[in-house]
Amino acid sequence: MSDGPRWMQCPICKETIKWNIPKGALKDVERFPAAIVIKHHDHYLVCYVDSHLQLADTEVASLFIEATD
Ligand SMILES: [Zn+2]
Repeated sequence: MSDGPRWMQCPICKETIKWNIPKGALKDVERFPAAIVIKHHDHYLVCYVDSHLQLADTEVASLFIEATD
């Protein structure tokens, strides 16, 4: 497992973004790929990482909403 900083090109604004999975943050994940939401400026990306914490896929979130109870 590598949990160092990683870089990718933001599919929305094309900037290079650096992101980091906090150490141990995915230790309880039982199913991979695991989805991670990355906020960049005013947009959100959904990234999927495999069990080696390598980027498997990236999606652009069309909308971010906060649910209420
Ligand atoms: Zn961006």
